[in-house]
Amino acid sequence: ATREGASEWNGIGATADDHRVKVLGNVGSPADARAAADAGAEGVGLFRTEFCYLDAPAEPPVGEQRAAYAAVLAPFAGKPVIVRTLDAGADKPLAFLSPAAEPNPALGVRGLRVAFDRPDVLDRQLEAIAGAAADSGAEVSVMAPMVATAEEAAWFAERVRAAGIARAGVMIEVPAAALAAEEILAAVDFVSVGTNDLAQYTFAADRQLGAVAGLNDPWQPALLRLIAMIGAAAKASGKPAGVCGEAAADPLLARVLTGLGMTSLSMNASAIRAVGAGLATATLADCEAAARAALKAATPAQARAAARG
Ligand code: PEP
Ligand code: MG
Repeated sequence: ATREGASEWNGIGATADDHRVKVLGNVGSPADARAAADAGAEGVGLFRTEFCYLDAPAEPPVGEQRAAYAAVLAPFAGKPVIVRTLDAGADKPLAFLSPAAEPNPALGVRGLRVAFDRPDVLDRQLEAIAGAAADSGAEVSVMAPMVATAEEAAWFAERVRAAGIARAGVMIEVPAAALAAEEILAAVDFVSVGTNDLAQYTFAADRQLGAVAGLNDPWQPALLRLIAMIGAAAKASGKPAGVCGEAAADPLLARVLTGLGMTSLSMNASAIRAVGAGLATATLADCEAAARAALKAATPAQARAAARG
């Protein structure tokens, strides 16, 4: 059984027996970054760069991009920050990158797929990110959204390294990528699970549609089983695997994700203290037991109850 009730957190993500799990912030603006730093985030696990450009009529020049990113990175000098390249399309349309009208935008040219048609836009963004990393002193890694195959991951990693950025990763938010986690990990330095989209695509249920919200419950055992596969592949590879979807913001689920082998959890600033405090009151063995119990459940409610022990 786990010990509940502690509310204090010393700012270092760790279980009661000192198994380290990085507790990181999800940010999209300088204000988000300050809030995450104030809440005790050890770094940033997801910087949604497209949030800087939702209203931009045209692609901002490299210098402007660099300044916008540096302003977000500023509170994290000397700390790890994962910058995500533009995740345009579907629920996050960008005027300067909108694809032709598509019948199913969530299944269309979005995320990294946009960069296959416009590698010049990606390369300019990587140049701006490398510059902002130098300006801010943050330890910057870059990751791509909406990757489906190891071949795509390798294509992205090569461009990141050509831009002089040391660490390249990809998000796992398409079931095919979860199934190919071993091959993807061989091509990159780390992976980060986007549970919002991974749930949407696993259950074929629009993440923006209230009518199917039950299928997008991050406690769905089928989703947890995919995350377990990713955790096992990461462990075998010796490379880190984090979660940066909403699932990481639930303190009980954060324990389960730790038990499934995730090495970092990234969330909105408002959840950071509660997740940090929740981890500190369970041992790694508690987390693993909670994960095993949740994986065996038949429903989200049963998974929650099983994890509570
Ligand atoms: C996700 O899909 O879980 C994720 C973190 O990315 P976004 O919510 O920005 O699509
Ligand atoms: Mg996503």
